[in-house]
Amino acid sequence: MARTALVSGGTRGIGEAISIALKLAGYNVAATYAGNDDKAAAFREAHGIAVFKWDVGDPKACEAGVAKVEAEVGPVDVLVNNAGITRDAMFHKLTFEKWQEVIRTNLDSMFTMTRPVIEGMRERNFGRIINITSINGQKGQMGQSNYSAAKAGVIGFTKALAQENARKGVTVNAIAPGYIGTEMVQAVPEKVLESIVAGIPVGRLGTAEEIAASVLFLAGDNAGFITGSTLTINGGQYLA
Ligand code: NDP
Repeated sequence: MARTALVSGGTRGIGEAISIALKLAGYNVAATYAGNDDKAAAFREAHGIAVFKWDVGDPKACEAGVAKVEAEVGPVDVLVNNAGITRDAMFHKLTFEKWQEVIRTNLDSMFTMTRPVIEGMRERNFGRIINITSINGQKGQMGQSNYSAAKAGVIGFTKALAQENARKGVTVNAIAPGYIGTEMVQAVPEKVLESIVAGIPVGRLGTAEEIAASVLFLAGDNAGFITGSTLTINGGQYLA
């Protein structure tokens, strides 16, 4: 029977590529999004993937949302915690609001999205949890103290959860992309982006499809001995 995969932020950018790759590999896929209804509708029409709208920072919405996915699509075997945002500013100018927004969406979501699926995975003795962190959670980044803190937190969470669930057939891994050519990165000023690309040994931005290929690998049966790891995919920019 086909496995079910839930991809947060799965309608756009890296998440969109992940949802499509999982669907093409035969998974039943549910993709969530926050508010961009037009994009989500176009994505659903183009790919025949079920979409669900809720805020990953809201524990009650996540509980209800996951219950709906499990009723309509199937018990979640693969969870990809991908939804994320940036609210950049130098720390001495950073507001507490921007700090909290990023921690809530990028780190609280590890709890709110994973907690409703973990017991089912443990009961069924199979699960794959794949958390999308970032190069900037590994090395830190000027102007991103909030984002770097949240993404570093994702790595710690991944390691702890991996240990707790290893005996239950549930693996928990993180993927740390470098700079990938999505809207998030296209929002970076051109001059800054040029200097970023100049610092990538491979000489280009990564693609969302390259991240999706690794999600597919970690989701598979052959990756059952990989848990608690962080897969770095950054064109050689930072060797963690
Ligand atoms: P995008 O901005 O292109 O897409 C973000 C997705 O997350 C959208 O589907 C968006 O929904 C959803 N989302 C945002 N906030 C929430 C929320 N509160 N609740 C539910 N869904 C939400 O991001 P990317 O594809 O660039 O990034 C995906 C992940 O990869 C993020 O975790 C990011 O931090 C990480 N990453 C990205 C890198 C890059 O170079 N792009 C590099 C390293 C890591 P909607 O469409 O409705 O807004």
